[in-house]
Amino acid sequence: MTDKSVERPRADLPTVEADTRPYWDAAKAGTLLIAECGACGKVHHYPRPFCPFCWSEDVHPREASGRGTLYTYSTVYVNDLHPFKTRLPYVAALVELEEGPRLMTNIEGCAPDDLSVGMPVEVDFRSLTEELDAIVFRPAS
Ligand SMILES: [Zn+2]
Repeated sequence: MTDKSVERPRADLPTVEADTRPYWDAAKAGTLLIAECGACGKVHHYPRPFCPFCWSEDVHPREASGRGTLYTYSTVYVNDLHPFKTRLPYVAALVELEEGPRLMTNIEGCAPDDLSVGMPVEVDFRSLTEELDAIVFRPAS
């Protein structure tokens, strides 16, 4: 017999690697970082060890404004994975940052019916563990 109340794996925790550690540490400290290429000057996100535009490996983190617009979204009503099922319904979204890159995120602090494509949003951080915060967005104040 199995006891389902003991230690279920969390499906909402990112895998942190050496290349992405600075981004997660910054999020925990309340700052959104994106990656900038030292060769061509373009920015991208998610972070990679090379530039997706010119393939240079001269990439480094830089602070993003945290402002963007809601590019598209979907309200999720069914998800059996722990701990998502405790958060239903939630809004999965693609946010286009002021700097250009788009990132997968959640929209929080707002009823799904109050969302509209193109609306201004701003970054916020929700604690996942003592070391990790989720990068989420809210309607801009
Ligand atoms: Zn580049």
